[in-house]
Parts: sequence; C-alpha cells; structure tokens
Amino acid sequence: MTKFNKYIVLGAVFIVSLLTSFYFIDVFSKKNIELQKQILIKQAQTHFKDQVNTRVWNASYGGVYAIPKEGQKPNPFLRDNILKVDENLTLIKINPAWMSRQLSEISNIDGFRFRITSLKLINPDNKATPFEERALKYFEKTDEKEYYEIGEDSNFNYMGALVTTNYCLPCHKHQGYKLGDVRGGISVSLDSKEYAKVTSSIKTRVVLLKVFVVIFLFSVFLLIFKQLRYSQKLQDEVEHRTKEIESTKQLLQEIIDIDASFIVLADGKDVIYANKTVLDFTGYPSIEEFKKDYEYMSDLFEYVEDNKNFIQTYNDGIHWIEYLVKEQDSKNLKVCIEKKGIYRYFRPSAKEIKTEDKALYLITFDEITNEYVKIKELEHMASTDALTNLFNRNKLNEVLKKSIELSSTISAPLSIIFLDIDRFKRVNDTYGHDTGDKVLIDIANIITSTIRTGDIAARWGGEEFMITLQATSVTHASVLGEKLRTRVQEHVFKTVGKITISLGVTEYRDGESEESFVKRVDEALYEAKEAGRNKVIVK
Ligand code: GH3
Ligand code: MG
Ligand code: MG
Repeated sequence: MTKFNKYIVLGAVFIVSLLTSFYFIDVFSKKNIELQKQILIKQAQTHFKDQVNTRVWNASYGGVYAIPKEGQKPNPFLRDNILKVDENLTLIKINPAWMSRQLSEISNIDGFRFRITSLKLINPDNKATPFEERALKYFEKTDEKEYYEIGEDSNFNYMGALVTTNYCLPCHKHQGYKLGDVRGGISVSLDSKEYAKVTSSIKTRVVLLKVFVVIFLFSVFLLIFKQLRYSQKLQDEVEHRTKEIESTKQLLQEIIDIDASFIVLADGKDVIYANKTVLDFTGYPSIEEFKKDYEYMSDLFEYVEDNKNFIQTYNDGIHWIEYLVKEQDSKNLKVCIEKKGIYRYFRPSAKEIKTEDKALYLITFDEITNEYVKIKELEHMASTDALTNLFNRNKLNEVLKKSIELSSTISAPLSIIFLDIDRFKRVNDTYGHDTGDKVLIDIANIITSTIRTGDIAARWGGEEFMITLQATSVTHASVLGEKLRTRVQEHVFKTVGKITISLGVTEYRDGESEESFVKRVDEALYEAKEAGRNKVIVK
C-alpha cells in the first residue's frame, strides 16, 4: 500500500467510526425520547379510558338524575332534562355528554385538562380547538382511533375517538348515529414540561457524547496517524539506506570486477563471494553454482611437490583461510591452479574486514605465473649441469648436507659413490671434444637408469660423477657400484666403442664432516685407479 493510500484508508476508517458511533448514539437517544413519549401516551390513554368508562356507566342508566346545587343547570340541549319529584324537589338529568362537560370543567387542574368535542356539534361550547379539529379530521380519513401531538405550548395533546356503541343508540339514534360511528372525541391535554425537560437533557447528553466521541476518535486516529507517519519515515529511511547500500555494493562489484586479479570474499570457513575474474576462470555463473561442485575453493589448489609454501585445504592441520591470515607475512605463500593442463601460479593475500557480527576476509590472488616459471628455470639452471641435465656439484653439495642431516636424524645409513671415466683424455684426443661430450651424456643416462628412486646423481666436474644413496649401507652401495661398472663396461658407445669407469664407495660415519666423507670416497676412487681402473673400491 502506498503511503497516500494508507492515509486515505485511515481517514475513511475515522469517518466510518464517527458515523457509526453517531448512528448508535442517535438510535439510543431516540429510543429514550420515544420511551418518554410512550409514558405520556399511556397517561393520556388512561384518562381517556376513565372518561369513556364513566360515560358508559352513565349511558347504561340512560342518564342519571341529580339534585342541583346552587347555580347548577340541566343540559339545555337535552329534551326532558328535568324531573319534578314533588313541590320541593326537582332533579336535573345528567346525560353522558353533560357529565363529560361538567367533569372537564372541574378537572382543569394544573397540568391536566380534558374536553369532549365533535365536528358535528350539539353544544356550541364544545367547539373543537385547532388540534381537536386536526384529530377529528384524522379519524374521518383513517380507521385510527387515537391521535396525538406535542403542542408548541409544551403540552401533550391526545385525542381518543368516541365510538358509537349500543349504549349511545337509545338517545342518539334519532340523530342518525350508527354503531361504530365516530361522532366526536375526548381530548386529553397533559403538561409535557417533564417530557420536554427529559428530552432536552437527552439531547444535551447526546451532543456531549458526540463531542466526546469526536474528541476520543480524533485522539485515537491522530495517534495512529502519527504512528503511521513515524513508521513511514522509518520505512523511507530503511529504503533510502538499502538503495544506498545496493548502489555501493554495485559500485564495489564493478570495481572488483574490473580488477583482473582473482578477488574473493570469505568468512572464516570459505568463499562467500567471488569476482567476475574468478567466475570466468572457473567457468561458473555464480559462487553458488561453484559451491555445488566444490566444498571449498581450495579444492582447486594443486599440490606442488617439495614446496610447502603452496597452500592446500588444510596446512599443518589449519584450514586454508586461517592459515593464510596467520602465515601470509612470515611465509611466501603461493597457490597453484591447473586449467586445461596449464598450471598457473598466484600469490594470495588476505585482508580482514571487521563487520558487526563476524570477521570477513578479502582475499586477492595476484598471478605470478611468469615470475614463478622464470625463477623455477633459474633455479633449475643454477642446480643443473647443462650437458648431462644431472644436478651440478653445487646442488649435490646442498643435497649431501641435507642427506647427512637426515641420516643423523633418522639413524639410517648414507652412502656415496664417486665415479670417474677411465682414460677419458684419450677419447677427447682421439675423437674430439664433441664425441667426448656425447660419451658424458651416455654415461649420465646409464647412471640415471641404474640408480633407484631417491638416489641422487650429479656431475661433480669434468668426467667425474657423484651419487648419494639415502638409507643405503656401504654393502648395498657397492653392489650398485658394481652394477654401474658392469653396465658401462658392457655398453657400446657410438664412435668410441668400449669405455670403463672406476668407482669409489663409502658410508657416512657418525659425526664426521662432509669434507672427510667426500675425501674418503675420493681416496677410494684413487685406489680404484691405482688398482688398474675399471674397479669398485669400498673404503
Ligand atoms: P684417468 O683414467 O686417470 O682418469 O685418465 P683421464 O684421461 O680420464 O684423466 P685426466 O684427468 O687426465 O683427463 C680428464 C679429461 O677429461 C681431460 C678433459 O679433456 C676431459 N674433460 C673434462 N671435462 C670435459 C668436458 O666437459 N667435455 C669433454 N669432451 N671432455 C672433458
Ligand atoms: Mg678425472
Ligand atoms: Mg678420468
């Protein structure tokens, strides 16, 4: 619902509530006023009934005779209106009409009055008042037998119809009366001041109640309106902030996507967001799709032999993100990812972003494939003999040092073989230096194909080779030496034909220096030469 619709609905509810309240107040007040009116009607009806009963009583005697007091006259419109009893007593006849009239004259007490009247008058004194005329005409027009008005003089005027009954006919038949005729009526006038007071008090209360309802409803709706406006304000603010965050997010997304580096956002466990470069590289439309196939992004990271700096999912038992955060400053950490047989190398770095409830990490992967490959080449060149592709003397010294350390640590024997081509100078002299080089390459190949995995061979210099044999006793080493010697002896070298080698073999002795170890094997080789060449001497 729009904010304006909300206010329109609120306004409508206010008006409906107000009108409903007013309606019920009016119904209630009208009922109360009606009740007051009914009380007046009942009173008037009772008076009317009393008169009718009295008249019936009188008529049932065909009129009654009374002894007249001073000034009392008989009904002048009545024939035979006196009865002379004797000289001293003359009675006057009181018929219902004369009785009603006299009663009405004496009943004129405060707040109550009644009269007998008719449109076809016998006694002109009974002439109808304007109200009585309206009532009588009303009886003529309708079948109703009562009529009432609350007069402007604050009186309640009631008129009951006088209906011709059997009691009336004996006296009035000659005047054309018929049973059921309405020939006149008795009007009853009651003081309605009390009624007016009560109704006016009800009306005042109604006005007060309505004012109260208006104030009450207005306050309630004002409160609701204010609350609505406040929550609308909050909602607007939230919408505004959300839009701001959304556009910032979009801007960040664009900035991050522009960057050619791999950028991911990770929580403590794994990646929750990846930039376009990552998605394009991995071939997934979103990180959610990626996660359907991989538990962790680190599942992409290749294991790189002999290089602990390459991150795996768990490193020393620590999950990769935690490990990266912890070790990135102290170690030259790297990541290798393979795609379609091509290995690419990256340097990851994590930056912690503190949010309210958790720590996030912005991890960037800068590609270092070119540098890494170059360094690897240089490292290879620095440790390899270009001609034979074996390790060079420098590298072997390094290997030897590590081998000595390892053998001391694990208390395993370590042996070395030192070999030298016999009379190699002659080969060069006879067939040329290039042929000599080829012989060197062939010898290197024979060595590599003879030694076991883990044994390391190197070109020590000129036509001399050194082999380290980890976890190998001198006895086993001499067997391998013998095998090498035989193989070379049996091999037919191109152009040159047959060649032999001399070998020295020795085992490392606890605590001795590298120099003394190498010196002893050199002495063994020397002894092999001295002993006539093509020999293995163990020392
Ligand atoms: P011995 O049996 O006593 O070892 O005799 P030898 O001739 O092998 O020993 P010597 O020390 O007199 O000669 C070594 C020769 O090796 C000298 C050199 O011409 C040759 N040589 C050293 N390095 C290379 C190389 O890289 N290529 C070639 N073709 N020859 C080399
Ligand atoms: Mg030599
Ligand atoms: Mg030699």
